[in-house]
Amino acid sequence: MLQHKSAVVTGSTSGIGLGIARALARSGADIMLNGFGNPAEIEFTRGEMQRQFGTRVRYSTADVSRPEEVRAMIAAAETAFGKVDIVVNNAGIQHVAPIEEFADERWDAVMAINLSSAFHVIKAAAPGMKARRFGRIINVASAHGLTASPFKSAYVAAKHGLVGLSKTVAVELAEFGITSNTICPGYVKTPLVEQQIADQARAHNIPPEQVVREVMLSHQARKSFVEVEELAALAVFLASDAAASMTGTALAMDGGWTLH
Ligand code: NAD
Repeated sequence: MLQHKSAVVTGSTSGIGLGIARALARSGADIMLNGFGNPAEIEFTRGEMQRQFGTRVRYSTADVSRPEEVRAMIAAAETAFGKVDIVVNNAGIQHVAPIEEFADERWDAVMAINLSSAFHVIKAAAPGMKARRFGRIINVASAHGLTASPFKSAYVAAKHGLVGLSKTVAVELAEFGITSNTICPGYVKTPLVEQQIADQARAHNIPPEQVVREVMLSHQARKSFVEVEELAALAVFLASDAAASMTGTALAMDGGWTLH
């Protein structure tokens, strides 16, 4: 379905990003992986994906909070694959603290990684997409792009901002065959959430199972985690020709959380 397409997926050494990268590669796309982690493990994943899916898979060490590194990553993908058709703005971090105790540098880091990085990725990739009159911008926000929870001021602000950025570029780039959409997942059991379960269990002095049931999934009507593979399938659809008229949307895949 995505043969002869190429994609850059930020934050794809782990969790949702890696799941999306794998699904895009399975559909035939060349992939630029990105993110932090153990170099040997990343190289193993890269080689394994290339062998398994028969597409070209490269890796960029770019820290997406640094605009010049983002620009270099997009340029490297354009050199490796001849073009960038799909960008997935997925890299993200969380920080949980009451507003009056929220460290300035944590606010800045969440904004830089969860929001500004998407601006720099889109800005760098748009000229090539416009020239070829095809592009797919897929932003991974969160249910927290649509609703709020306490103690997550930076994350909620950044994810709402990402939805706004996505809508703006959707309008701006629509006539060039470029779409921009945002996926808003509920809780997915990835390393990011495993960490939150552990932190909250410690903070509230309750067992991890209770954190999952009473804190994490309290609003998620389906009472189960969203699976990475479900999100990846949605990303593949958004990247496909079948989604050409779908742009500017914020698609909740959250087990019914934001219905309330
Ligand atoms: P994760 O921690 O498993 O993966 C995050 C990825 O981002 C990793 O590859 C990491 O190396 C990378 N990353 C972090 N900082 C980076 C930086 N400065 N530059 C480049 N890469 C960087 O997290 P995840 O749960 O897979 O989350 C992926 C995205 O999905 C995030 O934007 C997150 O906010 C969002 N999300 C997650 C959930 C969930 O429940 N897990 C729910 C809604 C939204």
